Amino acid sequence: MRLENKVAIVTGGASGLGEATAKLFASEGAKVIVADVLEDEGRAIEAEISEMGGEGTFMRLDVTAESQWEDVVATAVSRFGKLDVLVNNAGISGSDPDMTNTGLWDRLMEINAKGVFLGVKHAVPEMKRAGSGAIVNISSISGMVGQGYVHMGYSASKGAVRLLTKSAAVQHAGDGIRVNSVHPGVMDPMRTSKITATSEVRDQMLASVPLGREGTRLEVANAVLFLASDEASYITGAELMVDGGFTAN
Ligand code: NAD
Repeated sequence: MRLENKVAIVTGGASGLGEATAKLFASEGAKVIVADVLEDEGRAIEAEISEMGGEGTFMRLDVTAESQWEDVVATAVSRFGKLDVLVNNAGISGSDPDMTNTGLWDRLMEINAKGVFLGVKHAVPEMKRAGSGAIVNISSISGMVGQGYVHMGYSASKGAVRLLTKSAAVQHAGDGIRVNSVHPGVMDPMRTSKITATSEVRDQMLASVPLGREGTRLEVANAVLFLASDEASYITGAELMVDGGFTAN
């Protein structure tokens, strides 16, 4: 198993890509903390992991709340003994009809960018103590190229994730901690997506995907798994597109 004896936190683990990642990690032997603001959904994933024969636990975490990060990391260590992997996946969409909403800019930066910073900040001390760790930050194609249908704040937040990943990789390589970003392309819409969830806009987006189809959650989760595992032991500061060639165009 590719994550045997590893302890992992997956933020936004109660739905979508985070859920797929948490389940895949559990099936690969990790003890997984599913961290999310969605309590009912998170508890349901916890139960599904247990039914699969895996080990997982839900914890409520709002990634913008520093004290909650302290609790989640402390619980990982008290319950499972250590923290090996953090997947900073939680996020909200910038697909909104009001493309110049200032409040949305603030929320996007707070959750998508600062939430990732806080995760790195609070995971690093435990990983440092252990002498190793892997952090995978979920950015987007929107962190690489401009897009017509998303708020500028989404692109700015995902661009921030891309570069804070590289800074963290450089700053913590000496601590044995690897930090990489994954950039999903056109996928099932997020819970918070509005205009990009319409079939008209999806068709336009799909026309820019050389592989000609949406990506699946498992395809993204597999990329996250690779970067989180020891198979990626010489990879840090990298950005991995899982976008069917969207950004190669
Ligand atoms: P989703 O909406 O299904 O899942 C996002 C999860 O994050 C939800 O469970 C939500 O409750 C959680 N979340 C939101 N705010 C939070 C907060 N403050 N604290 C804790 N948890 C919070 O969307 P998804 O498609 O699974 O997206 C996962 C990640 O992938 C996001 O970072 C998103 O930006 C990125 N992404 C998604 C797509 C796509 O098309 N779906 C494409 C590129 C990148």
